[in-house]
Amino acid sequence: MSDNNLVYILDGKIYINLTNACTNDCKFCLRQQKDDVQGTNMWLSSEKISSNDVIEQLKKHEDKISKGITFCGYGEPTIKFDVLKEVASFIKNNYPNTYIKVNTNGHGNIINKKDILPELKRLVDEFSISLNAQNKELYNVLSQPKVNDAYNEMLKFAKESVALGFKTTMSVVSGFENCDVNISECENIAKNIGADFRNREFIPNGY
Ligand code: SF4
Repeated sequence: MSDNNLVYILDGKIYINLTNACTNDCKFCLRQQKDDVQGTNMWLSSEKISSNDVIEQLKKHEDKISKGITFCGYGEPTIKFDVLKEVASFIKNNYPNTYIKVNTNGHGNIINKKDILPELKRLVDEFSISLNAQNKELYNVLSQPKVNDAYNEMLKFAKESVALGFKTTMSVVSGFENCDVNISECENIAKNIGADFRNREFIPNGY
């Protein structure tokens, strides 16, 4: 049993908040500004969670499961790779038409010290990967990664995601303070990798 908010609803759809740990510390991260998303507190009282804890909470929103589910919270979901995999298996086994998306910083392979993507085939439909910047220097300033060679690892993850046939989107947050994110260069990086591109305007205190 867990009293953490592992499942929350945003705009009528289900999101899963697996952890508050992250290998980045992005300056624009929503968690720097607020504790909740549409009234749900995102800070977990414990990181000791199981897939059953998540599934129990998911079942309370059974009517919304078919609308699609996104793993995205105040932390990097691939840090809880085993739980992610078990929950995604549960969803695909019981609701096979449910679209599953994982929002990630793309560090999953270095975090887990193995190639995690092949294990997620048929469990995850889409990865949305935070590109954040057109080069590693700006990435390091904006995202303050705690792992070595984070920018290149993220790019490698995106390339592999495309190669394995996952729908892949690479995203940036623009308009944060005076940061010089070059949108067209970022879009080109995504295109060259074969990914879609998403530019999300920074909204102070918002989503
Ligand atoms: S990678 Fe995502 S969760 Fe982690 S600090 Fe950046 S925005 Fe926040």
